[in-house]
Amino acid sequence: MDLSGDTAKWLTAQYHIYDALNPGPDNPAHTAIIKQALVELNDIHQIGLLPTIPVGDRAPKDDLSFYSPRHLHGPAGTRIDLGAATFQGKQIELPFHLAHEFWHDLDEHIWGRGTGFGSDKQSPALRELLAAIKKTRQYQWAKEKDLLEHRRYWARPTELCARAYSQWAALRSPSGTLATAFHAAVASGHASSQWTADDFKPVAAAFDRLFARKGWLP
Ligand SMILES: [Zn+2]
Repeated sequence: MDLSGDTAKWLTAQYHIYDALNPGPDNPAHTAIIKQALVELNDIHQIGLLPTIPVGDRAPKDDLSFYSPRHLHGPAGTRIDLGAATFQGKQIELPFHLAHEFWHDLDEHIWGRGTGFGSDKQSPALRELLAAIKKTRQYQWAKEKDLLEHRRYWARPTELCARAYSQWAALRSPSGTLATAFHAAVASGHASSQWTADDFKPVAAAFDRLFARKGWLP
């Protein structure tokens, strides 16, 4: 797919999420879970035109999940991977991590135009969402943690948005595997920087408006 192509089509057309992610064949059990999660995500919102990327089980050993971005790995190397070793007995959490990585895909291809993460580049379309996130208590926690660890990870915009997107998806699909996965990941400590329900309310509303403006909500 040529990302520099028909911008008008990009901005107005609606596509299905399950056309953007191609799970398997690394692990058939994970593939079934991923497909169910994609159906649920697709019920929550649609998307603009995205290149189809694979979802595999090849995340680096210590990572729960991983997005290999286009701006670093090129079109053929762009993919989402889940951490196979980490998920022995934890498959229930897969949809939560999938949703997190899918945000990075959306962030790079929709708002970053394939050249980086739109949120990291302060894309004007994401300004309201980021402003809502920065007013939360959880953002203060993330900033302090980065200061303590001398790195820019917890409060990096694309990471904040990815954590927020996976929480928003769980909230908007309360009876599905996305919500079950979210609560399981928080309980296990694999989701260590999520928001309390109260703290998250303005962020969820900002996501609603962001996707409504794109015409992606049902
Ligand atoms: Zn991430």
